[in-house]
Amino acid sequence: MLGSMQDWPLVVPSILDHAARFHGEREMVTRSVEGPVVRTNYAQVHSRARKVAKALTRHGIKLGDRIGTLAWNTARHMEAWYGIMGIGAVCHTINPRLFPEQIVYIINHAEDRMMFVDLTFVPILEKIAKQIDVVETFVVLTDKAHLPQTSLRNVVAFEDFVGDVDDDFKWVKFDENTAAGLCYTSGTTGNPKGVLYSHRSNVLHAMAVNTSDCIGARSVDTLMPVVPMFHANAWATTFACPMTGSKMVMPGAKLDGPSVYELLDTEKVTITAAVPTVWQMLLSHMEANDLKLPHLRKVMIGGSACPPSMIETFEKKYDVEVMHAWGMTEMSPVGTIGSYKADMENLPWPEQLKIKSKQGRAMFSVEMKITDDDGKDLPHDGKIFGHLIVRGPGVARAYFKGEGGRYGTDSILDKDGWFDTGDIATLDELGFMQITDRAKDVIKSGGEWISSIDVENIAVGCPGVAQAAVIGVAHPKWDERPLLIIVRKPDAKVTKADVLKYLEGKIAKWWMPDDVQFVNEIPLTATGKIQKVALRQQFKDYKLPAA
Ligand code: ADP
Repeated sequence: MLGSMQDWPLVVPSILDHAARFHGEREMVTRSVEGPVVRTNYAQVHSRARKVAKALTRHGIKLGDRIGTLAWNTARHMEAWYGIMGIGAVCHTINPRLFPEQIVYIINHAEDRMMFVDLTFVPILEKIAKQIDVVETFVVLTDKAHLPQTSLRNVVAFEDFVGDVDDDFKWVKFDENTAAGLCYTSGTTGNPKGVLYSHRSNVLHAMAVNTSDCIGARSVDTLMPVVPMFHANAWATTFACPMTGSKMVMPGAKLDGPSVYELLDTEKVTITAAVPTVWQMLLSHMEANDLKLPHLRKVMIGGSACPPSMIETFEKKYDVEVMHAWGMTEMSPVGTIGSYKADMENLPWPEQLKIKSKQGRAMFSVEMKITDDDGKDLPHDGKIFGHLIVRGPGVARAYFKGEGGRYGTDSILDKDGWFDTGDIATLDELGFMQITDRAKDVIKSGGEWISSIDVENIAVGCPGVAQAAVIGVAHPKWDERPLLIIVRKPDAKVTKADVLKYLEGKIAKWWMPDDVQFVNEIPLTATGKIQKVALRQQFKDYKLPAA
């Protein structure tokens, strides 16, 4: 027997309809790419998104067409997103930090018919213009006055694009399983692969992210996603905020410590989200200038492991709750979140810090488990680690155009519908997951595994250390041994002996790095993670002292 409730499709434009209808006056504040901080609200964003939709339709864009965006977090970018998705076209967010060849590859692979681009990124497109013939029109996210001289063909300023039409437009009707967004993974090996979100998966994921144990933004909150919209939908905040009527603060092109601090402070931001490298810049700025953030209550940190020293600084020095989260592009992207369970709030701080340093527990709509190499389930005891596999309505079942499919199909799942995350992790009795390593980064020493993340996390707590990375280096007896690579804080004099002494007693003896090398810079990926592949390449001729 079927239930007799309304069949109301879970589609993204209904989120913005709700925001305009019930939170129309709520602000969206942007540090514009042109410079000044500009203000709009959900009612205006809704109106202009419908103008985008109408203008796209006039340009012949239809259901299922892909439209690229190469843009920062701004209100104009949001208007473009909702306009694109509102006609059932697919919003393809492109990470501008990818190599130009990768950008060429994904634009062609996605067959983007149109491109919305920020002023900052026009030069990137000019350089590759001859290789991306698929793009018919370039809409530069600015007004006529700021439109630069450019060699790109068919260029129009966004303000003219929306200025030519009115907002009398009804969203196109389509099935909730229609594709809404396309986001390519960084592709550390091989070509980037496209994850194709549906309207249904985006709406469900935003609802899950909005639960109080997760980001849990409320209408009274002000949320600043520092994590870019091209990094897995700014972790769903682009849908979660309009759903609740939270004020949004968009940092635009400036993600350095002073700029991020200024917006957090002046806009009285209560919740924010980004990768650890962003927070490292903010914290050094705050520490150097003796600053505080009295309004900030929650910071979501994920994308790579958050060092305990960073958690402690936010919680104890600045009284900001840290939510350590884990996820991936293929998961919409949030999988786990480190909020306390009953009774944990009363534990002594050192024990709480241990819990917070784990990547957290699965939110509703995410199932996960760990398995051995043969796919057999492993116990959840917080010690044994294995392959972390997941499933749920926000998890991809295939990549765009069937790339990477298995068993002769486009599916990337095993026979029971599980997706292998490529991460190695433990799961404890209470459901808290801790990432040991990416499967390809774990260091195999004498048949045992060393977690590079654990050693890095502790090493960054050593005074004078700004960044730390650990890679495995070939060893005649042990197969591989850990090499610790460090970037010193400005003016710090920390030595190899200091670092090794600091690690003593904090990690198992046989995990001790065989050597410490100091560098000026550690290469980061397009999403701000340590680029282990590049680092291994950089040290390919390096020989360990004892080897
Ligand atoms: P990319 O940055 O390569 O485009 P993702 O953002 O999807 O891709 O990266 C997902 C991966 O990032 C995860 O599989 C995991 O290895 C790593 N990751 C994400 N969050 C965390 C975290 N909190 N701690 C450790 N690793 C994390």
